[in-house]
Amino acid sequence: MHESEFARIGARLRSEGLVNANFGNISVRDVSGFFITSAGAYLDCPGKVVQVPFEGPVPADASSEYRAHREVYRATRHSALVHAHPPHAVAASLVTDEVVPRDSEGVMFCPVISVVEGKPGSDEIGRNVAEALRLANIVLVKGHGTFAAGRGLDEAYILTSLVEHSCRVLWQLGAFHQPRPESSPPPGD
Ligand SMILES: [Zn+2]
Repeated sequence: MHESEFARIGARLRSEGLVNANFGNISVRDVSGFFITSAGAYLDCPGKVVQVPFEGPVPADASSEYRAHREVYRATRHSALVHAHPPHAVAASLVTDEVVPRDSEGVMFCPVISVVEGKPGSDEIGRNVAEALRLANIVLVKGHGTFAAGRGLDEAYILTSLVEHSCRVLWQLGAFHQPRPESSPPPGD
């Protein structure tokens, strides 16, 4: 059941360029844990989905980013999570601590997107993402990607797509362009 749903969402993420190669991961909440894509899975062809408990040992084939998913499910009421690497959003995360969309949907659905830090697969990313998703449905991890939450996978996917669109618009507006350093005058004598 989960395999086909994961494949459907994975194909959408892939077709929009929100993930590439075998990066990104998807999960849905279960009664005593959650189901997540396996480590290194292609999201549009995820194969076996792995069940991870909230407590206790984690199967070795679970996505390496299971800590972030686990912390979010422990700390919030979200039912589904999509982690992707949308390029314009990743670029934005490297030059700002907070993304403020200006397009109409962005203003409506995610008026402020915070940027947090944490190495991939670490406890730190788990804590920071879970903390941010207590109050929001999407967060950016600096230089890495998005974690979007929802009542279902569609909601989390749509939000991921929407944030990438907002960031693309901001880049096209030049909102993130860094001012060039003042060129120093040529040395005189
Ligand atoms: Zn990632």
